[in-house]
Amino acid sequence: MTRWDAEVAVVGLGAWGACALWQLAERGVDAIGIERHQPGHSLGSSHGGSRMFRVTCLEHPGLVPLARRSRELWSTLEDSADEQLFFPVGGLLIGPKDGRVAGGTLTAAYQHGIEVSTLTGQALRFHYPRHVGVPEGHIGVREPSAGIIRPELSIRAAVSRAEKCGARVLTDTRITTYDLIPDGVVLRTSQGELRVRQVVFTVGSWLSSLVGGLPLRTVRMPITWFRPLEPGDDTFGLEQFPVFMRELDDGTILWGNGAEGGHDVKLGIEDRADALPLDPEAYDRSVGPVDWSALTALLPAKLPGLEPLPSKVAVCMLTRTPDGQFVIGRPGDDPRVVVAGGDNAHGFKHATGIGEALAEIVRGEETTVPIGFMSPNRFG
Ligand SMILES: Cc1cc2nc3c(=O)[nH]c(=O)nc-3n(C[C@H](O)[C@H](O)[C@H](O)COP(=O)(O)OP(=O)(O)OC[C@H]3O[C@@H](n4cnc5c(N)ncnc54)[C@H](O)[C@@H]3O)c2cc1C
Repeated sequence: MTRWDAEVAVVGLGAWGACALWQLAERGVDAIGIERHQPGHSLGSSHGGSRMFRVTCLEHPGLVPLARRSRELWSTLEDSADEQLFFPVGGLLIGPKDGRVAGGTLTAAYQHGIEVSTLTGQALRFHYPRHVGVPEGHIGVREPSAGIIRPELSIRAAVSRAEKCGARVLTDTRITTYDLIPDGVVLRTSQGELRVRQVVFTVGSWLSSLVGGLPLRTVRMPITWFRPLEPGDDTFGLEQFPVFMRELDDGTILWGNGAEGGHDVKLGIEDRADALPLDPEAYDRSVGPVDWSALTALLPAKLPGLEPLPSKVAVCMLTRTPDGQFVIGRPGDDPRVVVAGGDNAHGFKHATGIGEALAEIVRGEETTVPIGFMSPNRFG
């Protein structure tokens, strides 16, 4: 008879895995979390001090209910944590009024009854003076329910909550391969074997190296911080320079947030559709001008008043799918395996809701929020 080490293993304790482990443990499931580094590390997709939360999910109408549920669960997690995780500071979406960012935000707001306010270019210049060069026909959409979440603290809080509810956690332990056996899974780790009835793979950019057949493409995404030219310039503080996405005329998307929590102004630029894929096992994490030159070339015309070179740079990874949607569910409907990946750079805000959905899938329950459009089987 097989001796099981746990009912469920959650492999990868980044944002999604940490929340899945927490939600499983809350439900009394015998779960073990396995992480190749320490929770809250800076080698995957969930670091850099802040992540934007917004309910106006322009990426898919089905994400709005997930964002709303996630917001409730962020509060639940925060209640059990020692520190504030969620900062409800509002957010700003700028771009052509029928474009992807501002237009998509308005569509999501109208469809789902989300409170937003619209600013003309003139009003934008008055209220948010640091966003210059906004052309005619572009607008700002302010979403008061938006905010920022602390990624590293949140992951640690979810893991800690999971442990308090009875989950076991193995850190510095990497799953190298796994085998499916008739009624479970054998996981081979760097330190031995584990036998579990079900496995949830939440390994972020590493998903396609463990689970075959998913059309995932991992790309590099630098994060850069800039110092205002005038020290203490509060027009670059979070209030006058809130967390934002800004679409330019050529479709380039800038994102970032004002200086806060001892950090300088954080800025980034969305990866291009033709960005080269990388192997997460073997990529160069050193940084250089290639990580900031496209952004710094835009600063004088779009966000003047910052030093020309970043004060700090970090490299992050994200995983793209062909349709831009997450991949969550049982590949081939296998009752032993659940996957969650393909974050497409907008998955942090949903981590708590995704954790809940993963726990429900493991238990064979209907998910609180419908996530059928994320099925890994949609690719054929
Ligand atoms: C620069 C940047 C900015 C972003 N901004 C936003 C934003 O503003 N708002 C938003 O909602 N989203 C944003 N995102 C996306 C968001 O950060 C990701 O969707 C989210 O962090 C994904 O979490 P994850 O748990 O899937 O991946 P990860 O956090 O990478 O977790 C995967 C974990 O699996 C572990 N692992 C891998 N392989 C193994 C193995 N074999 N064995 C054991 N453990 C393993 C890794 O060590 C890692 O801890 C951004 C992403 C980037 C890169």
